[in-house]
Amino acid sequence: MWGNRDRATQVTCIACGDTVSRTDAREYDKEGDRYDRRDKEFEYLCKPCHRDIDHQPRGNLESLLAESGAGETDREAFLTRYAELATERGPRSESER
Ligand SMILES: [Zn+2]
Repeated sequence: MWGNRDRATQVTCIACGDTVSRTDAREYDKEGDRYDRRDKEFEYLCKPCHRDIDHQPRGNLESLLAESGAGETDREAFLTRYAELATERGPRSESER
């Protein structure tokens, strides 16, 4: 009983790509409005990633997610794009140039 349920509630962390149980994941709404659930698929973050984000300024991440096409492209395309953008704009690339 529990086994089947668990399998149906696996989600993928948008930050690291890990598959975690939905009950262990944190809902993440890139648009920052979690009360408007119409036609929306929530993104999920595993706990470690969620914790990371909470400790960072959010400004960059929000636009990064939106620009990466979160929720609009399929997950693989989104993760690829996200990784590219995150690498381009990481704190290091600016100081290295
Ligand atoms: Zn994660």
